[in-house]
Amino acid sequence: MDQMDDIKSPLPATCGIPAILAGPCSAESRRQMLDTARPLAESGIRIFRAGIWKPRTMPGGFEGVGLPALDWLAEVKAVTGMATATEVATATHVNAAAGSGVDILWIGARTSSNPFAVQEIADALAGLHEPPAVIVKNPISPDLNLWIGALQRIHDAGITRLGAAHRGFTTYGENLYRNTPHWAIPFELRRRIPNLTLLCDPSHIAGRRGLVEQVARKAMAMHFDGLIIECHCQPDEALSDAAQQLTPAQLAELVKSLPAGGTAIADTELESLREQIDRIDESLLETLAARMQLTDTIGRYKQQRSLPAVQPMRYKAMIETRTDYGSRLGLNPDFLRVMLSAIHEESVRRQVEICCKND
Ligand code: PEP
Ligand code: MN
Repeated sequence: MDQMDDIKSPLPATCGIPAILAGPCSAESRRQMLDTARPLAESGIRIFRAGIWKPRTMPGGFEGVGLPALDWLAEVKAVTGMATATEVATATHVNAAAGSGVDILWIGARTSSNPFAVQEIADALAGLHEPPAVIVKNPISPDLNLWIGALQRIHDAGITRLGAAHRGFTTYGENLYRNTPHWAIPFELRRRIPNLTLLCDPSHIAGRRGLVEQVARKAMAMHFDGLIIECHCQPDEALSDAAQQLTPAQLAELVKSLPAGGTAIADTELESLREQIDRIDESLLETLAARMQLTDTIGRYKQQRSLPAVQPMRYKAMIETRTDYGSRLGLNPDFLRVMLSAIHEESVRRQVEICCKND
């Protein structure tokens, strides 16, 4: 793989450490942009983000105001001196945003999932005389190669002011996070491309404002180079992602509470390994909880049909197949038997409880 040895930070030198990109999910009006940008600039934020073209999962949502918002972004820059960033998904977006003097373009998660779209963006960037810097968000699925492939396409187009942003991954069902972090993936990206500026977007990982700070702190403890945080002058009125946006005052508080440039962190290697373990444990527990919910569904099914809670043959097959699979993954068979028995025991306890409750 091309090591991308020549890449540099996509962020302006004045952005501070950690770098913070803040601003609304979507540009909605000139007033909203200025009312959000001014207090952000006063609290020292140097890069303003706002989505102009919004890729929405379902039709009928607010899809951004498009071209007029480029003038608002230019005005924010003129009034506050902040650098500006927006999302691009097509060649037309690239040409319009670059033509209007936007400093940083980001490729969103839905777009970085699509090599055709990324290549179209790359080709448009290659045609620019002074292209803006580019940040590639991870694709929605936890596929590191797809992410690296997108970075590679942009790099091959001659973009050296290039970075990546981790915004979590789509998973099915109810989860703590809107987008599961799978922190091991950005870590592996950093291992493979050590000189790549790596940002974290805690807003899209968290999905709700109460969780943004916690995710931001984790990212800082794990030595991300900066954060992208959604911020709106009236978050509850926002036309997109209302639940996760902070007010400029909340953002200023959050930023103040972060360790400066990671200097507060002592043993970084150990810290980051422990953070990975914490995340893996969290996902183990989430998986276990999902398993128990399924157990309860089965319990109700058996109860309705008067089937016994414990079916010994099923138990035996379960222990055998799992021990075999786990052993092939390098896990100790004795440990597997103890663990699987404990899980089974708890499943039976729940099912018996269901049967008794409904009797
Ligand atoms: C955004 O930053 O507003 C956005 C749409 O992000 P993502 O592509 O990460 O969903
Ligand atoms: Mn958003």
